[in-house]
Amino acid sequence: MQQTKLIFASHNANKTAEIAKLLPNNWLVNSLNDIAYHSEIIEDGLTLQANALIKARTIFEATQCNCFADDTGLMVDALNGNPGVLSARFAGPEKNSDNNNKKLLQDLAGQENRKAHFSTFICLILDGNIHFFEGRMDGQITLSPSGGNGFGYDPIFMPVGSNRTLAEMSMEEKNAISHRAKAFEKMKLFLENLK
Ligand code: IMP
Repeated sequence: MQQTKLIFASHNANKTAEIAKLLPNNWLVNSLNDIAYHSEIIEDGLTLQANALIKARTIFEATQCNCFADDTGLMVDALNGNPGVLSARFAGPEKNSDNNNKKLLQDLAGQENRKAHFSTFICLILDGNIHFFEGRMDGQITLSPSGGNGFGYDPIFMPVGSNRTLAEMSMEEKNAISHRAKAFEKMKLFLENLK
């Protein structure tokens, strides 16, 4: 089968492999390591959508190749949508998930409204045209961490309709409902329906 190259604006090989599995197999997904792009991309956008665009546009301008980028954040209602674009660095530049979770639980201490959602934005640049896809998962922040699976805020996020945190679910269970899976499903449908 003839494959068309699509660069994923990420240095993360595991994430690239996971996403490659979610997309139609006539697309060959390359990470930034695969194309020997080693610079760090500064994500200084004010929104997830802006950051996805910054990353995709940076790679498009450097390579002139079809590419995509994603950006994800956790938006907590009682914190006016924070940590949002700062999700990775909520407790500091070292991007430590345990510290991020501790800070979030502290910031929500005594708060009854614990509603939150994850959002993923993907920016795809195909033949020079820009397309966005979004996926969202609603839920609430628990009172304490629970579960050992997943990453990031998974131990303190309980999706709507579940009595377990994301960290208490298998990867398959999480992928059936996650913000990221929903966004990539939309991009997959778009790529499958290209003429
Ligand atoms: P990224 O844009 O995918 O790098 O995500 C930014 C940050 O959001 C991560 O460092 C995590 O703290 C958090 N995050 C993203 N996706 C998830 C998820 O599926 N579960 C828990 N935390 C996540």
